[in-house]
Amino acid sequence: MDHTGVEAAHYKILDNGDAGCRLCPQACIITQGKTGKCRTRTLEGRKLRLINYGRFTSLAVDPIEKKPLYHFHPGTAILSIGGFGCNLRCSFCQNWSISQANAATRAITPEQLVREARNCGPDNTGVAFTYNEPMIWFEFIRDCAPLLKSEGFATVLVSNGFINPEPFAELAPHVTALNIDLKSFSDDFYKTYCGARLEPVKNTIAAAVKAGIWVEITTLIVPGLNDSDEEIEEAASWLASVSPDIPLHLSRYFPNFQMERAATPPATMERAHGIAKKHLNYVYLGNMSDDSHSRTLCPECGTTVIARSGYRTDLSGLKQGMRCAACGARIAGAA
Ligand code: SF4
Repeated sequence: MDHTGVEAAHYKILDNGDAGCRLCPQACIITQGKTGKCRTRTLEGRKLRLINYGRFTSLAVDPIEKKPLYHFHPGTAILSIGGFGCNLRCSFCQNWSISQANAATRAITPEQLVREARNCGPDNTGVAFTYNEPMIWFEFIRDCAPLLKSEGFATVLVSNGFINPEPFAELAPHVTALNIDLKSFSDDFYKTYCGARLEPVKNTIAAAVKAGIWVEITTLIVPGLNDSDEEIEEAASWLASVSPDIPLHLSRYFPNFQMERAATPPATMERAHGIAKKHLNYVYLGNMSDDSHSRTLCPECGTTVIARSGYRTDLSGLKQGMRCAACGARIAGAA
């Protein structure tokens, strides 16, 4: 198995010579020349080596709303980069061609990535590690983020949140914003459809908010699997217990990868929005044919402070950064 020569972080060599990876709760035991579930690290002798350090599959400038982040420098662009592999295996994966299949990669160094960010011009907020799971790109991001910070750029991760607490604590001081997928509020769902568990994801969400990282959450609503009133109520009320200002993006499912069930009915999305809104100040619907639930409303006076049409934003309802132009109330997030 080819590797980049860079040693992995967070592993132990076991008594029998295998490696026990400690980066994420999958806790893979990796034998000579083989990889763990995420396909990004391999054992060579007594060293776990990275296959994915600085290897990227896509690099593009995206509107920050596409991550989705609606309350973090709205209306700006962000240089977005993705690698390959994933530590989960969701049967409805929307990005399976890079997460689960072998995609062509190119090489980039942390210094080159910072240069790319600089070349994007004054509208660029920073770098988003996205498209596939960034936590399995831990070592590369750990090396890029401080360089980005020193130039005033944000480091954004779009993640499943399935990482162990120790490596997350090491990365957290360098991360500015996170969008975390909360795929369901049921451990059975995580086990059956993602090959993972719920609790570590909840722990990452709570730890990220506590660390002062700006956090938004995305849930793909799959009909019949995670769309019950009870489950949406439970998820939204738990998120509100962490912070009622966490924006929740409910995204409409369409068939993909191994899942063939029909797309989520728009009425289900409306129902989920109504339930979540009882608990959280900012709830959005995504992947919909209309923009009716993509506006940001002031939680105090109800005025539209950010209007969105596709990925275009109208910020004329804001003043002094993130304040409602009508009543002056603070809108959560950063401008
Ligand atoms: S990071 Fe990869 S190798 Fe390590 S435990 Fe997670 S899935 Fe396994």
